[in-house]
Amino acid sequence: MIISRTKEEIELIRESALIVSKTLGMLATEVKPGVTSLYLDKLAEEFIRDHGAHPGFLGMYDFPNSLCMSPNEQVVHGIPNDTPLEEGDIISIDCGAYKNGYYGDHAYTFAVGTIDPEVEKLLQVTKESLYVGIREFKLGSRVGDVGYAIQNYTESHGYGVVRELVGHGVGEKMHEDPEMPNYGRRGRGKKFIEGMVVAIEPMINLGTHRIRQLKDGWTIKTADNKPSAHFEHNVALVDGKPELLSTFHYIYQALGIESTEEDEFRREKLELDL
Ligand code: MG
Ligand code: MG
Repeated sequence: MIISRTKEEIELIRESALIVSKTLGMLATEVKPGVTSLYLDKLAEEFIRDHGAHPGFLGMYDFPNSLCMSPNEQVVHGIPNDTPLEEGDIISIDCGAYKNGYYGDHAYTFAVGTIDPEVEKLLQVTKESLYVGIREFKLGSRVGDVGYAIQNYTESHGYGVVRELVGHGVGEKMHEDPEMPNYGRRGRGKKFIEGMVVAIEPMINLGTHRIRQLKDGWTIKTADNKPSAHFEHNVALVDGKPELLSTFHYIYQALGIESTEEDEFRREKLELDL
């Protein structure tokens, strides 16, 4: 069942989401060659706890860490380890925070140093597809409209859309109704309702959409070992329109990037307390 949240509940989800946004912003300048994902995981755990929250993924379904760290051909659900990152890698960092009874959950794929232009393009298009999808998250639309938009946009670049893993509602639980696939048909699926909150998260592969799971029982990787990108935002449906509860601006601030990509999804200018 899709839950319609009150204004107060949406503010609590926003608070948790912004802790995740700040955590990703803190990590942005730490992602570099020679650093291990396990080290980044420890930094994130400390940062989240310092902000009065609990790492959302830690212990969830027995996941051992605070971050899902998925480099290169890994799609999602990678477990942090002590392998140093290398120049030219990409790494999806997916993070959750739980505070005052509500979850925030979003992800960004970082470049480690300079990356292959072909992979750079994959990151850019995947991130664009996230906003293409968010634009369809409005009153009168359905789950299939968001999925269709993301699929249509990314497949037009020749990329593979992962089928087995999907976005989701988010609130008192990390994963709530509805499931939000990154593929679909226009006008199909559950209808969106005012006050609902979702995590939209395209997982897009450079090559085939097919995936495999590693023997660790967690890590999802591409079947052809080509790179995969993943970007995720938390979005509420307010006054019939999508409103972002999470932000990549802490990342951009840290990296010195100018961006207006989120502006249309905000009521007022975001105040960043950095
Ligand atoms: Mg996530
Ligand atoms: Mg998610």
